[in-house]
Amino acid sequence: MKIIDIIKSEKPTLSMEVFPPKTTDNFEVVRIATEKIAVQSPDFMSVTYGAGGGTSQFTADIAGNLQDKYDVPVLAHLTCVSSSKEQIHAQLELLKSKGIENILALRGDMPEGMERDHLDYHYASELIREIKEFGGFCIGGACYPESHPESANSIEDIKHLKEKVDAGCEFLTTQMFFDNNLLYNFIYRARKAGIDVPVVAGIMPVTNPKSIKRICRISGSALPQRFIRIVDRYGDNPEAMKQAGIAYATEQIIDLYANGVRAVHVYSMNKPDVAQKIIENVSAIIK
Ligand code: FAD
Repeated sequence: MKIIDIIKSEKPTLSMEVFPPKTTDNFEVVRIATEKIAVQSPDFMSVTYGAGGGTSQFTADIAGNLQDKYDVPVLAHLTCVSSSKEQIHAQLELLKSKGIENILALRGDMPEGMERDHLDYHYASELIREIKEFGGFCIGGACYPESHPESANSIEDIKHLKEKVDAGCEFLTTQMFFDNNLLYNFIYRARKAGIDVPVVAGIMPVTNPKSIKRICRISGSALPQRFIRIVDRYGDNPEAMKQAGIAYATEQIIDLYANGVRAVHVYSMNKPDVAQKIIENVSAIIK
């Protein structure tokens, strides 16, 4: 099933992101965790992609398994900056052979020390054009309510986002954000720039305060004072932090639905208990 048809339906949607294993050794652990999330019937699940290519097979394997066994529509992430055209075509063939119909087309992070002239792909829009030419996939792209960290400014960022949509991107999924006003402001600016595709709001329930500081540094997402107070008070108490992180994410999600955002994507970090709590907390709202 195509993701665009799911997120364009009247019903508010709640979907889950998982990540594939890094090595064969932990494939089973990850498979089991992702299956425990699939049984909770999210509207769809996305599976991330390791930019270095080491886990490219695992993305397709995990996504294919979820779709075949649990009938959950899947969205396979695909990055291009570290890949050759041949590698991208091989990956598209692999995804097609597994019956996967949806791709989140990404540039990926620039490999350090790589000469830009030697790359086959520089931006996600080039990958989007290529997937469109290949045919058969519903294509999504990433967007950044607080602007991509490499962007000169928010106007340039939105300009390049429009190019990505014009290249064939049918929906956008946001980087995590912790203040919903940032998303509302971003949607206003995007619509004004003529970007009219659905925007799926990415929400991260923070249960591990140590990793969130690093993630925020890389992604450029700001932590509001209100959230920092929670981390300061409960960061050393894993059970309390988990409860507070889930409550904070739940409040964000309810506010998004109440303000007309119809699609929310939860960065589950492969944690079935966190996914389950969030789904339970909004069960009547997304019915
Ligand atoms: P692009 O859309 O190409 O944008 C990158 C930068 O280039 C931006 O600053 C943009 O404004 C600028 N730009 C675009 N076009 C032009 C142009 N023509 N000229 C000049 N500048 C331009 N990474 C992974 O490795 N694996 C994943 O599975 C993964 N999943 C993600 C899922 C989501 C929802 C998000 C938000 C990010 C994800 N990432 C993932 C991270 C992503 O790969 C990085 O943020 C990466 O740095 C940018 O990817 P992009 O597709 O947004 O790039």
